[in-house]
Amino acid sequence: MLRLEALYKQFDSQAVLTNINIEVHQGEILALLGPSGCGKTTLLRLIAGLERASSGKIYFANADITEIPPHLRQFGLMFQDYALFPHLNVRDNIAFGLKMKNVDRRTQAQAVERLLNLVHLAGAGDRNVSQLSGGERQRVALVRSLAPEPRLLMLDEPLGALDAVLRDELLIELRQIIKSLNIPAVYVTHDQREAFAISDRCAIMNRGRIEQIDRPSELYRHPATLFVAQFLGMNNILKRTDALKLLGGLTDFDAEMLLIHPRGVTVNATNSIRAVIQDVVFLGDMIRFVVEFDDQIRLTFHVPSDTEGEFAIGLPIQLHIDTRWIIPLHR
Ligand code: ATP
Repeated sequence: MLRLEALYKQFDSQAVLTNINIEVHQGEILALLGPSGCGKTTLLRLIAGLERASSGKIYFANADITEIPPHLRQFGLMFQDYALFPHLNVRDNIAFGLKMKNVDRRTQAQAVERLLNLVHLAGAGDRNVSQLSGGERQRVALVRSLAPEPRLLMLDEPLGALDAVLRDELLIELRQIIKSLNIPAVYVTHDQREAFAISDRCAIMNRGRIEQIDRPSELYRHPATLFVAQFLGMNNILKRTDALKLLGGLTDFDAEMLLIHPRGVTVNATNSIRAVIQDVVFLGDMIRFVVEFDDQIRLTFHVPSDTEGEFAIGLPIQLHIDTRWIIPLHR
């Protein structure tokens, strides 16, 4: 439905987005994930039409909308800071976009009731928005953006202001609601857990470029670049020469840097290497431990917590590294 082709954006002479190519399908939730300043919000503003691309094209449903002003795109936008009207009650906040479109009163009222039900706020229509909790405000902000039946929904850190428990709860709700509407959605966040939980696919951005775009499980299993691996918290990164030394002659990897995936190890299997445990953390389902091999190479691994063997600092351990979990990283 949404297609971005070779988008570039400069502010003054500073490149902020470089060669962005993305497609988002009907009913698909795409997350834009990356550190602060990488260009996520700017990209969302380009999609919304609030900012003009320096070059490149934006298509929606095969129509070129690059030059179409924001209010004619029929896209919905939801921000972190709610941006609700404080002097209006819940009902009037939700109905605002419908009033602007001159929808008749009866249809407005029906739409508002249906939307309040959707976010479990039936009966809250008369309340003032200042009397709502953070989570309730966020639900109202969501359905306000949905009321005019947008063709695409954009969400910019929509849960950023909420505490962790509420965020997890609302994430699941949000995903269900977006899925039930079957519209494409673009979700901006700098939080990896959030991006992985809500999205069908996730674009990892770095300095105005897309480093990798894929399903969360694929990003986790096969990070393609040094940046992506590090951004996802995987630090078992070895120079090719060190990996060769450690593993005793593995070949055919063309990259200079290799990731030894934290899941890529079996304890006490045949063909194993000796290491000494340096640190152990029990995480419930998993045990995370740090080992040191010869040559002072230190790596971190995760194994299921029912793995046989003794995990204690200072003890030796025999580890088999599975070559399927050795991943070449490109720059
Ligand atoms: P955050 O997670 O902190 O919101 P972001 O990934 O959304 O960051 P953007 O807000 O898109 O990043 O900003 C990307 C870069 O573009 C930054 O270096 C920012 O300073 C710059 N930038 C954004 N808007 C403008 C503007 N109107 N004029 C000049 N520079 C801008």
